Amino acid sequence: VELEVVDRVEEWTGFLKKKYKSELNKISREYPSERSLEIDYGVLEKYGKIGVVLADELLEHPGKTLEDVKDAIRTSRLITGKDVEGNDISDTIIGKVNIRFVRLPRKTQIRDIRADDINKFISIDGIVRRVTEVRPRLVTGAFRCVNGHITYKKQEYGSYSEPDMCGHAECTLKKLELVQSKSTFIDSQKLRVQETPEGLRGGEQPQNIDIDTIDDLCGKVSPGDRVIVNGILRSVQRVVGGQKSTVFDLYIECNSIEISIKEFEEVNISEEDEVTIKDMAADPGVYGKIARSIAPTIYGNDEVKEAIALQMFGGIPKEMPDGSSLRGDIHILLVGDPGIAKSQLLRYVIKLAPRGIYTSGKSASSAGLTAAAVKDDLGDGRWTLEAGALVLADKGIAAVDEMDKMQKDDRSSLHEAMEQQSVSIAKAGINATLRTRCSLLGAANPKLGRFDEYANISEQINMPPSLLSRFDLIFIMKDQPDATRDLNIARHILKAHSAGEKIMRHKKYPIPGADDEYFQRELAPVTPEIDAAMLRKYLAYAKRNCFPLLKDEAKEVLVQYYQSLRSVAYENSDKPVPITARQLEALVRLAEASARVRLADEVEQEDAERVVKIVDACLRQVAYD
Ligand code: ADP
Ligand code: MG
Repeated sequence: VELEVVDRVEEWTGFLKKKYKSELNKISREYPSERSLEIDYGVLEKYGKIGVVLADELLEHPGKTLEDVKDAIRTSRLITGKDVEGNDISDTIIGKVNIRFVRLPRKTQIRDIRADDINKFISIDGIVRRVTEVRPRLVTGAFRCVNGHITYKKQEYGSYSEPDMCGHAECTLKKLELVQSKSTFIDSQKLRVQETPEGLRGGEQPQNIDIDTIDDLCGKVSPGDRVIVNGILRSVQRVVGGQKSTVFDLYIECNSIEISIKEFEEVNISEEDEVTIKDMAADPGVYGKIARSIAPTIYGNDEVKEAIALQMFGGIPKEMPDGSSLRGDIHILLVGDPGIAKSQLLRYVIKLAPRGIYTSGKSASSAGLTAAAVKDDLGDGRWTLEAGALVLADKGIAAVDEMDKMQKDDRSSLHEAMEQQSVSIAKAGINATLRTRCSLLGAANPKLGRFDEYANISEQINMPPSLLSRFDLIFIMKDQPDATRDLNIARHILKAHSAGEKIMRHKKYPIPGADDEYFQRELAPVTPEIDAAMLRKYLAYAKRNCFPLLKDEAKEVLVQYYQSLRSVAYENSDKPVPITARQLEALVRLAEASARVRLADEVEQEDAERVVKIVDACLRQVAYD
């Protein structure tokens, strides 16, 4: 139904007077530091019958609506102000005030944006992938001819245009010059927002859209931030090699930005779920159950899966009295022969973990693994700051495959990102620190592609010791022929294949007599004991509610083990993984994670013993023999 376009100034006046009086007064008092009025869409929509109409009009005719709101403020002088000399400057202020709408109930997926949405008010959510420098943009140009006449011309987005000739009567001069001091500029910044990985169906490339922000919205977000962007979808003609094309690019003229703080909060846990979670936690077999629920199609690798389980729970981040902080995130590296399901494991984990990002060390992204300042199309010659995988995975898990093939630059920036959990970029007009509070799950192949049986394993890891020492656990995965294991893997893979095939076939040509029970039996070997949705709830519950403290008995186990490590390490000082206090911190993190799996308030001796076993099995291969 086409909405009738009528003047709504009166209705808006009524609404603003009733619902936003104090906000408007605040702007009157505090302009220019306060110069934006945020209107909650929900409040508008609930403002009786007319509220629903106004809300619909905003979505359909946002340009007109914004004018109406301004007119309402102007006509009824809802904002007033005086300059230092006491002159009334209300009109100037009203001219500069921004009307922003927030908290829209419906979101449009970036990939679902279509031509029909052009000039409509839409709301999208995603991760900020890039931001440009904040730079002034010409809004209205003042142009002067040699006779000194000034002609003003409003500028369109993205293209600079001069008046054809002097606007002064009787003056026909065509040569005009821009006068900066008489022109109006506004701060501007462009953002590129990418779909959130959660919304993607396996393996799809995320899509993105550019956002144009001005005035006080500039500099508000950083790459890696999860945001909701509300604004008007605009199109701009593409220019290819100086020629105007028939293809148009889309961007959002930003009206408002909301920064979302979701992560684990986004998982809803009902009271019923809570009961189930507590029951599961009380089961002594919970460690095995959770570990086996990670990548059930992959046979064996129980230690690796158990470690990944601990990684997903994580340790407790700490603020020290001296102001420094200790990470709670656990970093794991898998170094192994090709074809032993490293990549598969990584892909599975990011599907399971909230805010999981998968990337390859050799990926061509200009941001690399952490972040970079680049010059490209988004910035029209300005520098832009682009987030890499670890920034995008902030508060989640970054799975980095083929780590041995990463760029040199990445290696050095990884040190800071893994330990301090932030990266700093200082280049041109960009000076930023981005947060990388994520766990890293890395995979790498040995130096020569596969392990040489006769050479020392630890020397075959193609990474510098400084980087290796930042991993809490390093697993060596060798693919040696082992008759029983090979047979089991082969059987397991074929079971998974046939289960998958039967499901596919059943959809097209129903298998006679195939009921739920049949599928349960067929799928049993590759069905996780705890399904992904439940496991995610369990993780969220533990992370929200469980902050275990180390018991003295547990401390003693860790301290004793650390001391013994140091003495063997002394005799093996040629090994690439040095034994330092970092290992002790790793032990603490892992022990805390182990207690979290049981939803316990205290880290018990058994937790300490469990993690000592895991750490020792890892270190035996890389730090001492
Ligand atoms: P990598 O990254 O270690 O080189 P991939 O993850 O690409 O290896 O695995 C190669 C293939 O072999 C995958 O399809 C994987 O499912 C299969 N595969 C390897 N090891 C196992 C295993 N233990 N159980 C089940 N499948 C396996
Ligand atoms: Mg691989």
